[in-house]
Amino acid sequence: MKAKIYRGTKEIGGTCVELTADNGKILWVDLGAPLDDKNPNISYTDNKVDALLISHPHQDHFGLMEKVGTDVPIFIGEVALDFINATKLFINEPQLKGNYKTIKPWQTFTICDTFVVKSFLTDHSTPEAFAFLIEADGKKVYYSCDFRATGRKKIVYDKIVASPPKDIDLFLIEGTMVERANHIYLTEESVEEGIFQVIKNQRNVSFVISSAQNIDRLISIIRACKKTGKKVVIDVYTAWLLEMLHKQSSNVPTMDWGEIKVFEHPSQMERIAEKSFDDFRARIKVNSVGNAVFNVPSDFIYFVRNPSMKLVNELRKHGKINIIYSQWEGYLKEEHKQYFTDNINALKQDKDISYHSIHTSGHATVPDLMKFAKAINSSKIVPIHTAFPKKFKIEFEKEGFANIALWDDGKEYKI
Ligand SMILES: [Zn+2]
Ligand SMILES: [Zn+2]
Repeated sequence: MKAKIYRGTKEIGGTCVELTADNGKILWVDLGAPLDDKNPNISYTDNKVDALLISHPHQDHFGLMEKVGTDVPIFIGEVALDFINATKLFINEPQLKGNYKTIKPWQTFTICDTFVVKSFLTDHSTPEAFAFLIEADGKKVYYSCDFRATGRKKIVYDKIVASPPKDIDLFLIEGTMVERANHIYLTEESVEEGIFQVIKNQRNVSFVISSAQNIDRLISIIRACKKTGKKVVIDVYTAWLLEMLHKQSSNVPTMDWGEIKVFEHPSQMERIAEKSFDDFRARIKVNSVGNAVFNVPSDFIYFVRNPSMKLVNELRKHGKINIIYSQWEGYLKEEHKQYFTDNINALKQDKDISYHSIHTSGHATVPDLMKFAKAINSSKIVPIHTAFPKKFKIEFEKEGFANIALWDDGKEYKI
């Protein structure tokens, strides 16, 4: 078997790994969209491929997957497929069409009669993310996916460390955090506590800014609300994501929970106007926040991408409004305007706003990466999904790892 990383040896974004078996069969693992590059070279997406395996529904891992066309089999988690279709529904794009084969956690399956794959659930900032053990030609590759050891699913990190797959020849491990650190909030529980401290005595409404797909974060808010008797207000899109997740595991919250209310965003309601959504729409009506926020604004926490200025302006007379920024600080930079950078930075300066930054990363810290790498005990470790591979190598070698190899994008290596 041979391996090639099309993108990702020196950047976060556009992750795509190619594995070629001795019989010529070609498997791609992830086909992500580049994150920063305005005019990225993605000509490799036209190359021959026999199957595609997607780790999780983040743009930098699946963003270009439709480029393989509708015939190539795409192996993807059930929740991932539902989440991507949910996003398409609410941005008014057609649902995915293609040769999708859905997979579950801890499932072993064969691709192209050649690659034997096992999916490992990982702890990440989306509810379903898979690492993969891929075997062919007597060789074993472990692809870490994005992961951490500090979220609500840290048990799966511990589980893999306690009984890791054996005899790995190549370990492709993410290295996002090599130049980053969690400073104040080290775990998802500490984020929950931080949010609790801000909202417990609030005089006015709070907004928590995060990704709707970061269900761990939503659960942190729900738990903080439970302790304070307050309610979290989600939009229709988030309510739909919870529906999708609830199909897979019944202990996931839904909008019917007492701590949850739904904001009937008019353009989102238009997206679910069809008859097939009748039941969902009816339940939204039952769980709608309505005008309650105007009566007692301090009872509510809005979970949003971008706080509504209309709501902020209507409520500012009640006292300080909390803005809790709960995602990566890097998104506040000029080049990430799609994250509503301008509005959020303006709110930061607003005299009626009390601004808080409460976040922990979806990615493993360097010590957690090392602990994991020790457990996997691969003959060779290649960092991927990192902007600082050299630093990765130096840090790991300092701790006694002698098997770190740095690869170049687009170059093929024999395993
Ligand atoms: Zn990623
Ligand atoms: Zn991710």
